[in-house]
Amino acid sequence: MQPLLFEIGQDKDERWSFHYYRDRTASQINSVADQAFWNRLVIQVGYSRDIVRHALVAIGSYHEGVDHLDEGRRSDKHKFALQQYNKSINGILKSSADSDIEEILLSVILFTFFENVRGEWASALAHLQAGLKIYSNWKAAHPAHLPPTEVSTRVDTNIAPVLTQLQLFVTSLLQMIPAKKSRYSTYMPDRFDDLRTARYYFHEVLHAVCAKLQSNHDEFQWPKSDEATLDHGRRLLYRWYDIWQEFLTSAQRTCSCFTPSSTAHFELGMYHMQMQYWIAIIRLECKPFREETSFDAHNDKFQIILDIGSKFCDLYMDRTLTDTAKGCVGFEPHYIPVIGMTTLRCRDPVIRREAIALIRRWQRPEAKCETHAIADVSEEIMLLEEASAGVSNPSAHEIPNDARFHLLGCNPFRWNEATQKFELVYAIEECDLIKFRLIRSGIDPAEQEIEIHWLDRRKQPDSKPLHELPLPHDVTGFFPQTIDGPAMNSKLWSTLGGKKVAMFLERASISHICQCQNCASQNELLTTPEPRVVPVAATVDGVDQPTTLGEPSYITPNAQYIPLASPKAESARFAYVT
Ligand SMILES: [Zn+2]
Ligand SMILES: [Zn+2]
Repeated sequence: MQPLLFEIGQDKDERWSFHYYRDRTASQINSVADQAFWNRLVIQVGYSRDIVRHALVAIGSYHEGVDHLDEGRRSDKHKFALQQYNKSINGILKSSADSDIEEILLSVILFTFFENVRGEWASALAHLQAGLKIYSNWKAAHPAHLPPTEVSTRVDTNIAPVLTQLQLFVTSLLQMIPAKKSRYSTYMPDRFDDLRTARYYFHEVLHAVCAKLQSNHDEFQWPKSDEATLDHGRRLLYRWYDIWQEFLTSAQRTCSCFTPSSTAHFELGMYHMQMQYWIAIIRLECKPFREETSFDAHNDKFQIILDIGSKFCDLYMDRTLTDTAKGCVGFEPHYIPVIGMTTLRCRDPVIRREAIALIRRWQRPEAKCETHAIADVSEEIMLLEEASAGVSNPSAHEIPNDARFHLLGCNPFRWNEATQKFELVYAIEECDLIKFRLIRSGIDPAEQEIEIHWLDRRKQPDSKPLHELPLPHDVTGFFPQTIDGPAMNSKLWSTLGGKKVAMFLERASISHICQCQNCASQNELLTTPEPRVVPVAATVDGVDQPTTLGEPSYITPNAQYIPLASPKAESARFAYVT
């Protein structure tokens, strides 16, 4: 590597913060990509490309800001960070997606990191979504059968794996992605012709409700809830259920996938939809569902879900039936998200244990470890809640509100015999220790500390007990990582694990009530929008909307809408995502 003699611009503040990133920040980051990405690649590109440099300066300046004890200095540094961040965004709007693809994608990763450490996860998510969109557009224009260019090779080796890993982290952290505003219709036809259509209208309604709850959340902060929207959503789902019942009386249940013909595929799709319906109704009927005790009135519905889930499982574990189900009914039927939700929200000790057992009935080879980890965490939370009830074997109503938990997220670790440390792992199959974060029901998320718990899943009989081993220090978020040595005292991560994050996650879980495939399963969340089958009629606001799919994009700039962030502006988020 050539020595870098070349200096950064003329601006000494930029140079200072760039060096702060290079000399202090870079060595502390080891998430998503190996260290060479953070302490060599981005810095090298930053020397020659303004947009990447401004993004690094923003991170360096933010980091220096949190390191400052002096309030005034800190605020100056953060203001400078936002200015640099906006400069970089402006640079992206002026660049060409094709020739500048590397710089654009690197900047997007850096923006995501910047917003992540600031605890602005909605903005971090918007950046990541835009980046994935740009990458997939670029990929489509450069198909694999064409000879690789220098640029495409670098993108494929250096950047694509980072984006993929980020996407995986984010989808496992945010099972519930906040819906984009007003993209969905609440139109309902008079009849459904098949399962696919029934499912489509069901999720349009539910996503419209989610989008509305998300967009007006600021008016209904804890402990208020937007009862009008919940009530509207409920009436729409009741209507859906009437049409659904009508459909079931006359539907053709056999398909030609099997000889002799069978109703198995239809039943899988039907059970799937019925579980989706009941869990959605429970959420919509628990008006102030920030009080976990409000779920107790719905134990009868949890029982219905469990009965359907059990019939579903009888069919689902037979792979000769299920491997072809998606092609036949038009969607992937599943049961884990709904039953997983039952294990967390239903406090009836019998139903809850049966729900956990139902998750453990998963014996399909794919996702088996992950599924069983979900059951283990659910069981642990159940035992924690029951233990703090103050009586033995408590019934649902004997578990007080503030002894009930919201699960905020899990990080998996594996013991490394060579280093004698637990290391953060990316795939849950490999994990033998799970760290999970909880907040309590009935207490303002802005007023409580996140509680940390550990679940030991090590199987080796000669394992040392957990309390004799060093537990890992880690940070959560879009860029989870373990922290070692001097970095343990770093303030770079000070926002993560704090109240801002708890509030964001609570907001996501309050306004997102859907357990559909796109909302609840990993990988598909960020890149594959649901195919539209009908034009939009009206939104949940009752206002007609155009049918454009408003994916964020950096490539269609409209520069006059870009505000320069001021320190008063909460953040520069969405500045270029119109
Ligand atoms: Zn079939
Ligand atoms: Zn959904």
